[in-house]
Amino acid sequence: MAETASESGLKIVDAFDLDPELRALLRPGELAEGIGGQYHHLPRYFYEIPSHEAAREIRLTPHFGLNEFLLVDLKEAQRLRNYPRYVPCAVRLLAFYLQRLREAVGTPLHIAVNGGYRSPAHKLSLGATPHMWGTAVDLYRVGSVVLRDQNSIETYNRVAEELSDDWWVMPYGHEIGKADDHMHLDLGYVTHVPREINEDRHEAPQPVPRFAFEERRRGDRRGWPEHTDLAGTPAADSPAPDEDAVPDPPR
Ligand SMILES: [Zn+2]
Repeated sequence: MAETASESGLKIVDAFDLDPELRALLRPGELAEGIGGQYHHLPRYFYEIPSHEAAREIRLTPHFGLNEFLLVDLKEAQRLRNYPRYVPCAVRLLAFYLQRLREAVGTPLHIAVNGGYRSPAHKLSLGATPHMWGTAVDLYRVGSVVLRDQNSIETYNRVAEELSDDWWVMPYGHEIGKADDHMHLDLGYVTHVPREINEDRHEAPQPVPRFAFEERRRGDRRGWPEHTDLAGTPAADSPAPDEDAVPDPPR
């Protein structure tokens, strides 16, 4: 029987073992300069998502599917829009925090196109933004509230800030480093090393590629137990990307 995400858990890859084109696009471990002049090491360990179907089926939390963090348009490198696709393992931490925010507001959070993971090759990746670590998210709508004015953005920014000091919340405003047509939240430059991975010092492709299958954790992300959703609503909040194309906020 072939191994699939559903049978064995998500596959984790060491990006140094990917083909040269992918390595050049993902730049594992490289230093990237942020807008403030600080340097950060880009992520090295990625989930490998075999297919569009897998991306739609795999849930990171009761209300967030993996596919919601992969919404990109032509601004992302073509190769990275093809399956198998790659997303830094820290995306799971982002999903955990978003799930808590979802529960606090009691209504669906809608992630913008280009508002989840963006590779270093993405046209909006001008400096080291946590989007390149899979730890940032842009929301354009909370429930039926479209985030296009100061009041709505600041209202939900406050909810996020009160929920956890781990969130960094982009202030409302029109200048660079502020947002006026979406809500940007991030956890900073978090890199996640899954326990199944063997960290070695060989930052070059290996004859035998390094990978692991993440052990099944509670709930098995495909079929979350119904009792975890106290509101009794369907697990999926967001429509499929092709059903809900919106202009992408640039940050
Ligand atoms: Zn953002």
